[in-house]
Amino acid sequence: MRGIAILGSTGSIGRQALQVISLHPDRFFVTALTAHKNAALLFEQVRAFRPRLAALTGEEAPVPPDLSFCQFLFGPDALEKTARIAEGRDVLAAVVGVAGLKAVMAARQTGKRVLLANKETLVAGGEMVTAACRPDENGPTLLPVDSEHSAIFQCLQGAGPNAYEKILLTASGGPFRTWEKSRMENATVAEALGHPTWSMGAKITVDSASMFNKALEIIEAKWLFDARPEQIQVVVHPQSIVHSAVQFRDGAVIAQMGVPDMRLPILYAMSYPERLETGAPELDLFALNRLTFERPDTEKFPAINMAYQALRAGGAACCVLNAANEEACFSFLRGEIPFGRIPQAVDAALQKHGHLPARTLDEIDRADALAREEARRALRAPDEGGGKRIG
Ligand code: NDP
Ligand code: MG
Repeated sequence: MRGIAILGSTGSIGRQALQVISLHPDRFFVTALTAHKNAALLFEQVRAFRPRLAALTGEEAPVPPDLSFCQFLFGPDALEKTARIAEGRDVLAAVVGVAGLKAVMAARQTGKRVLLANKETLVAGGEMVTAACRPDENGPTLLPVDSEHSAIFQCLQGAGPNAYEKILLTASGGPFRTWEKSRMENATVAEALGHPTWSMGAKITVDSASMFNKALEIIEAKWLFDARPEQIQVVVHPQSIVHSAVQFRDGAVIAQMGVPDMRLPILYAMSYPERLETGAPELDLFALNRLTFERPDTEKFPAINMAYQALRAGGAACCVLNAANEEACFSFLRGEIPFGRIPQAVDAALQKHGHLPARTLDEIDRADALAREEARRALRAPDEGGGKRIG
């Protein structure tokens, strides 16, 4: 039996993790659950999965009397504390944004394995997080949940160290793949939330529309697989059937395919190296019309090149990219800025603060705060092209 703490259990990944845990009660039990504000769903999940620990990080709420078997923590430090004191070996980091970073570090400091959906944590703190997540005597201590990185990890099983030549990181292209740039720059929130193949939380769905999700994933791949920037090739694949591929030295390309359903990568991280039933539909090759592959349009989606620039710059550049994007993405979701302003804000923050260091939590916090401040400033400034201000 593996005990799993789920940070962000009320989100899209968290809820699907609980679904696959329900399929395998003989394998997994829940040690802790956390939510930010959704107390009602958290209480329901605690009632169903009976963890001994739970946390609500965004506010305080009265605990229903029938949940007295569970210790509840409240407030901003509760996430980190949960990761630290939860029983069991695994922590699924499924909160959104860099808010997960300290909790991931706390999980590692207490010897736990991190199952990582929360890519922003690795983007912001890549050097520090990977240093804390070296494999131990039981194998990897950081397992990818992001579908592309899970695919790459699966393709690399059995390959020797540094055996691969190139990572082929697939991208659906998002809802604006076929749109003219000018139309995309003024897209509404509803349009940006209309992802063609994946159903996910709001932030990652907007990130997929701007392709900042792929930018974050390029950086995530660098840290997870020790890749040089030029070894990571983004391949637009609108059908989302090939979840990514790896090209080896002898020219062999191994891809992982499947229906677009996060239950597989979530469960693979939990059961690794075993494979278990996920409850997702089977891939029916005969029902597929065709699979297509395109180069990304880096003029329309500047996020891709910004990721490579940030990787090459090193230091806090990736942290700055992430923080400015978080700031701009949530500002767009609140209806404050047009979609086209998102890359402008990230670019402004990178120009101003991309050179800062990011070796420690304090340095990362500082770069993150300065990047957010600069992004907010850039978003208040008159538009330099790239979408009309709304409202
Ligand atoms: P959601 O927005 O659906 O869920 C986020 C979860 O985190 C919720 O439980 C939420 O609580 C909690 N949360 C929100 N803000 C904070 C905060 N400041 N501090 C602590 N907890 C917080 O996100 P997703 O499940 O879509 O994504 C989670 C992570 O996984 C992201 O990093 C995303 O990039 C990554 N990911 C997601 C995929 C997907 O298919 N959804 C695929 C690949 C990666 P509450 O409900 O109370 O607000
Ligand atoms: Mg992904």
